[in-house]
Amino acid sequence: MSAGKCEVCLEEKPKLVNCGRCGDRKYCGAVCQRKDWPTHKYSCQPKKQPSWILKITIPDSREPQIHRTIVCPDGATFEQLHYAIQIAFGWANKHSYDFVARDPTAEERPVEDIMALMKRRAAQDNGEQRDFGPRQNFIRIVNPNDHKMADSLHSYDRRHSQTPEKKADKVYIGEQFNKKEWKSAEWEYMYDHGDNWGHEIEIIGRGKIDDAFKCTEGNGHGIAEDAGSMPGWEDLKNAYRAAKPTDEQKEKMHWFENMASNFDPEGLKGRENFVDLDVINSLLTSNIE
Ligand SMILES: [Zn+2]
Ligand SMILES: [Zn+2]
Repeated sequence: MSAGKCEVCLEEKPKLVNCGRCGDRKYCGAVCQRKDWPTHKYSCQPKKQPSWILKITIPDSREPQIHRTIVCPDGATFEQLHYAIQIAFGWANKHSYDFVARDPTAEERPVEDIMALMKRRAAQDNGEQRDFGPRQNFIRIVNPNDHKMADSLHSYDRRHSQTPEKKADKVYIGEQFNKKEWKSAEWEYMYDHGDNWGHEIEIIGRGKIDDAFKCTEGNGHGIAEDAGSMPGWEDLKNAYRAAKPTDEQKEKMHWFENMASNFDPEGLKGRENFVDLDVINSLLTSNIE
């Protein structure tokens, strides 16, 4: 609140109120504000909020643990964050994904015996939802193009009848990270519901008001897509570490340098920590709008 001229009646007042949405227009009170709204609504844009600084880690990765710090605009959708993660970690965007806000107080899932698992999977293959244990997540934000993905069936394990689902292109980062109902949530991005590459998303702060994604820091070469979960990735790293690689190891290295969806012709030797922030940032600028 400040003193000045009301933008509608043009009278000088000791106290003015700002439009709660854009924060730009100043009024002497509710009467003038209401009078202004039918025209002001066309130019009234929500006030921009500072970016979110996210430290994203693949917690199962070791030596090195792979992580990136990404500055994410407050108004970005979760679909845009998905693209940013794909670029920053060097993924090939060939599999499905979801984001979940994990409830840290959720009861653990029971150990499921093979018969129960098979029954549940069969029911799910018929399109029926069978909950796997108690609810784990406050919300699940899903790939809007899931139907194109071969691995989308496996994502049923992450569905729950008491966990609402929303499409990633319709949900905004700022709105979700500010939700009072799940302030305690631990955010997770899961890529590839077959190999289950889990990424922990830790909110480490707020930056400036900015419309662009930026990767400010990171370590660890991106994982080869379809490497065969974490053990497969470890096997590949071991192949590059071997003084005398076996034929099987040579084959793996050849696959990684030529055939993987996110192949790297330079291989991994001495490059396990490799991250090129300049390349990542130029891809973020040219690919996310
Ligand atoms: Zn007025
Ligand atoms: Zn306004």
